[in-house]
Amino acid sequence: MVWAQLADALEKYTEEVASLRVAPELAVERMRESLTRFDFAAPVDPREALEFVIRGLCEYQTHTPHPRYFGLFNPAPTTMGIAADVLVAAFNSQLAAWSHSPLAVEMEQHTIRALGAKFGYRAEDADGAFCSGGMEANHTAVLTALTQAFPEYVEGGARAIAGEPLVYVSAESHHSVLKAASMCGLGTRAVRHIAVDRGLRMRPDALAQAIENDRSAGARPFLVAATVGTTSAGAIDPLRPCGHIARRYGLWFHVDAAWGGAAAFVPELRPLLDGIEDADSITFDAHKWLSVPMGAGIFLTRHRDILDRTFRLRTAYMPREAAGLDVTDPHQHTVQWSRRFIGLKVFLSLAVAGEQGYANALRHQTAMGDLLRTMLARAGWSIENESPLPVVCFTDPGGADPHRIAMLVVASGEAWISTTVLAGSKTVLRACITNYRTTPEDISALIETLGRARVSA
Ligand SMILES: *Cc1c(COP(=O)(O)O)cnc(C)c1O
Repeated sequence: MVWAQLADALEKYTEEVASLRVAPELAVERMRESLTRFDFAAPVDPREALEFVIRGLCEYQTHTPHPRYFGLFNPAPTTMGIAADVLVAAFNSQLAAWSHSPLAVEMEQHTIRALGAKFGYRAEDADGAFCSGGMEANHTAVLTALTQAFPEYVEGGARAIAGEPLVYVSAESHHSVLKAASMCGLGTRAVRHIAVDRGLRMRPDALAQAIENDRSAGARPFLVAATVGTTSAGAIDPLRPCGHIARRYGLWFHVDAAWGGAAAFVPELRPLLDGIEDADSITFDAHKWLSVPMGAGIFLTRHRDILDRTFRLRTAYMPREAAGLDVTDPHQHTVQWSRRFIGLKVFLSLAVAGEQGYANALRHQTAMGDLLRTMLARAGWSIENESPLPVVCFTDPGGADPHRIAMLVVASGEAWISTTVLAGSKTVLRACITNYRTTPEDISALIETLGRARVSA
């Protein structure tokens, strides 16, 4: 009986989310007060408990599945993705050892190879792992690059490396690379931020110069991580020149395509990714533009043996049933040990929508981004970024405060947008099309809400 209630709630939420406030009132005291009845001493009726959670989440959440959530790459999740996560919880598949969940592991690897092929990897080379998110995938990239450049790192750690190991990213790159450097024992100072051009793309000349300088000073550059679709403005680093420079100096070339990588599914956007096929590794988040529920990060590589070299450990207690088979135990391939069946939501979403279905959804969102850009310009806003992807940065030429405008928009409950800083100094408003259900009416509504906010800002 819990299942029927749950299925009803899921369906109702999906149907009615568009009529809810996009962002909640931040009523801290009221929320805490509502939790006091759960002292965990006396049991609560399951229907009542579920009802409490469902109602509470409807009231107190920024609804990322809302068609007027113009936010931080968080999508409206696919129906098959939701179904997959429910199944995964019920079957509780354990993806540490191959033999515990053989079909599940094979489904993940099948999906990894298909995605690798989308990015131009040869089927026989493509390898990878499903991760909690882009953070873990970028962490994996730094670990594999370290293992490749400094085999002594695996057992000896960062202190075994003679000289200072250095990572190169653009000044607009995601902060996860900093965190990864920190978690790898390198420290955040090991990350060099390379200057960007007017389009906020990494400057290859500045990259080459920085590597030269650092090498002359005795440091050990080992990784270039280019971004496809920066978080703030959707900028795409020049992959071919960056890749050539990495190769010239013998550095690992990683592409962080967490959001923008989905362009691989749209023939007219695919050229944006030219050069990604030469990347040693790629980060791609299915929980962003492929619209599967969180968390579904993907690490891809064209080096079949590198994950094994990075993560392989021997244990006495892991199952041995598959010892004679030509298979890989996932725990020897990823940061995680016990791991849930992350890949199922990607497998089922891709299987049911098909490439054509994805191409249509992504194309629609790209068109909504173009429409938003056009309508903002027509309403007298200045567009501050140039991206072929559906993320728009803008300001009021009259000088209205972006923070104040974003606050008013969010407080209205009619839409969710945010602010960011471009090129280290320019504060802008940011709106991203993250939802395949967003329509031209939703765009018009955002323009009206923004207009009202600008007047009162
Ligand atoms: C979102 C994002 C990340 C971090 O991924 P999570 O899934 O949030 O951990 C890293 N890099 C880029 C470019 C991103 O957009």
